[in-house]
Amino acid sequence: MNFNLTEDQQLIRETIRDFAETEVWPGAAERDRESRFPREILAKLAELGFMGCLVPEVLGGSGIDSISYAITIEELARVDAALAVTVAVHNSVACFPIRKWGTEEQKKKYLPDMAAGQVLGAFALTEPQAGSDAANQKTRAVRRGDHYVLDGVKAWCTNAPEAGVIIVMAVTDPTRGAKGISAFIVEKDTPGCTIGTIEDKMGLRSSKTSELVLEDCAVPAENLLGPEGAGLKVALSVLGASRTGIGAQSVGIAQGAYEEALKYAKMREAFGKTIAEFQAIQFMLADMATRIEAARLLVYLAAFREDEGETRLARYSSMAKLFASEMANEVTGQAVQIHGGYGFSREYPVERYYRDARVTTIYEGTSEIQRIVIARDLLRE
Ligand SMILES: Cc1cc2nc3c(=O)[nH]c(=O)nc-3n(C[C@H](O)[C@H](O)[C@H](O)COP(=O)(O)OP(=O)(O)OC[C@H]3O[C@@H](n4cnc5c(N)ncnc54)[C@H](O)[C@@H]3O)c2cc1C
Repeated sequence: MNFNLTEDQQLIRETIRDFAETEVWPGAAERDRESRFPREILAKLAELGFMGCLVPEVLGGSGIDSISYAITIEELARVDAALAVTVAVHNSVACFPIRKWGTEEQKKKYLPDMAAGQVLGAFALTEPQAGSDAANQKTRAVRRGDHYVLDGVKAWCTNAPEAGVIIVMAVTDPTRGAKGISAFIVEKDTPGCTIGTIEDKMGLRSSKTSELVLEDCAVPAENLLGPEGAGLKVALSVLGASRTGIGAQSVGIAQGAYEEALKYAKMREAFGKTIAEFQAIQFMLADMATRIEAARLLVYLAAFREDEGETRLARYSSMAKLFASEMANEVTGQAVQIHGGYGFSREYPVERYYRDARVTTIYEGTSEIQRIVIARDLLRE
């Protein structure tokens, strides 16, 4: 067993960390305060190849391995979790399903522009009544000649307000339940496709999340992604891999919060000494660092398994997401605690890390759903 990163993986870590610290960190707090989407940063990330992480080189992507991809998301989240989720959604639930399920024509039509950062991707599975119960879809897609006509409302669609291409799940055959759902590549400027309410979120405020309203929206039949009726399979197969990315985001958030807490503990004085000299604070720092490292190993293991072609990947990606997201909530809470009253102030970054961590146990499947996925897999043995 070898725990060392390869030279390529190390180079990616150095490149993305340097970019994150020089280009992302300086404006992160301000973008959060102003809920401002980081268009200019995405353009620079695209130049470095990070908008086509999971797109093969022949289609204009960088085609990096899953561990390198996890490192990318982790390093971005260490300074700005909102940017990390924007990049993660684009790469892993918008580009990746086209790469995995798309026809050659679909891949050639969409992936080069997406990898170049010219077109941002989004993924619309959730509906107002269909979150954890994802199969309970109401959005309909009715075949009319050489088009499918989509009607319905998708909820909580990350990137949608800024996206050009959205992977949309809709019911093509209501008599077949989960097997009657199909996936579509929807271009956002298609007539009948509009953005509804933009969510006013607790955290990740510079990422954009909204409703997607589909009214008489005619999508060409050739934009069906995967076979008709395989839409839930498309969605779940993609989430099965991308949850590792949310695990990586959680590790990055926790790492950023921990570093801030360590710095603060060495500087803040109480009772005539730095608070880092109190064993209570030292124990908190020790627990934080230990949990972060354990979560990182689990995330890299899931990524490693994916690269090895693991067939029951969902177990590992769910474990990584479950453990890392719960860890991030605990660690960011401890980072606030170490800051005392100042941790409750917007003046210090830990307040942002604490808010940003909160959603990691909710999106791409709640902790309860991850436990169901893991337990189901264990019981199959
Ligand atoms: C910021 C943000 C961004 C998002 N981005 C996207 C996106 O880009 N695309 C997309 O499609 N979706 C997105 N989502 C939606 C997200 O995936 C859902 O919110 C999530 O899956 C939970 O669904 P829900 O909110 O409907 O909660 P519910 O499903 O209503 O769950 C409510 C509670 O009940 C629990 N629960 C539900 N069922 C069970 C069960 N069987 N056993 C035990 N407990 C259960 C849940 O764990 C939770 O605690 C996003 C959400 C957020 C907050």
